[in-house]
Amino acid sequence: MQFHEVLDQALLRPITAEEALFLFRNTETNENMQLLFGTARAVRKAETGDVFRFTGGIASVTACRLRPLCQYCPYWRVKGQKPMPVEAIVEGAKYFHREGVRAFHLSGGTALGSKGKEVVRIVQRIYDAGLHDMKIKVNCGAAMSIDTMKELKKMGIASIGAVFEITNPEVFKCVKPGDDLERKLRFAWDIQEAGLRLDSGIMAGLGPKETRYEDYVKTLFDIASFPHLSSIYISKFTPDPTIPMHDWEKCSLEEACRLLAIARLIYRGIDLTTAAGWTEDERTQGIMAGAGTSLFSLAVNIKTDYWKDWVQRPSFIQDAMEYRDTRPNKRAMADICQVTIAE
Ligand code: SF4
Repeated sequence: MQFHEVLDQALLRPITAEEALFLFRNTETNENMQLLFGTARAVRKAETGDVFRFTGGIASVTACRLRPLCQYCPYWRVKGQKPMPVEAIVEGAKYFHREGVRAFHLSGGTALGSKGKEVVRIVQRIYDAGLHDMKIKVNCGAAMSIDTMKELKKMGIASIGAVFEITNPEVFKCVKPGDDLERKLRFAWDIQEAGLRLDSGIMAGLGPKETRYEDYVKTLFDIASFPHLSSIYISKFTPDPTIPMHDWEKCSLEEACRLLAIARLIYRGIDLTTAAGWTEDERTQGIMAGAGTSLFSLAVNIKTDYWKDWVQRPSFIQDAMEYRDTRPNKRAMADICQVTIAE
């Protein structure tokens, strides 16, 4: 396989698993890494026109009942922690609406075996507040019945999340000991049966170094096999003193960007974004490596004490909820990266 040939072919068609592994192994030098990023940007431009859009997100809308919690996750570690009250969720949705942002996600923890009815109640309350022109994604763990998802579809929900982070079964079991990979895979197919699109995610830097590239390729292609895939985000492993993996090495920006760029060469026009673990500055590098085209810019969350170093300070606090508006940073990013934001 020739490096330049693989990149040339990637401009014309999705790369194969063998080519993806070849690219991971051959983009450790800065020169080749930059060539990879340039190809990923070219694919993004051809597929999406490089037009970006602001989105919002409300976190902690459902509690996580996994035991043990995922080893890399700092959420839900405070005893007695409660999910966000529905009134605050509705206020968050109204805030997005006032600011002209019409797409947002609701995210929360997993309750395995749950029918997920509380999500229906939350969405209903948002619509009852008159917010009918909002595109809502739901990402509350792989725990919801098909009937609930059909109900959500009728209400106007477009997609549901089933986030794997990694699909190597042994590693999954180690880092997500309270979760169930098989069940999650079935859930991803249930989303299709309910007539909805799938949102998923991968965490860079989560697996052992020895099999990391192979694990990335397996995870990328396992997720690519879902024909109803709508979007995918790349998180970046960041240790926090509160998590069991506190002494695991932080994922480098270069590695996360290479994962993102190779994902672009596979997923093509799909919405492919940066997520937890990326600082605002690092997100600029993510766009230069092919991320896009959503820009998560308005965030509403319960006050948190983790990841203080990389999460931007709240723009304001209202009723004990933190509101963050990073649109100014995102506009600056768009200028640097020479992409357009549709406002
Ligand atoms: S399912 Fe999500 S919220 Fe729950 S422990 Fe795992 S990563 Fe954290």
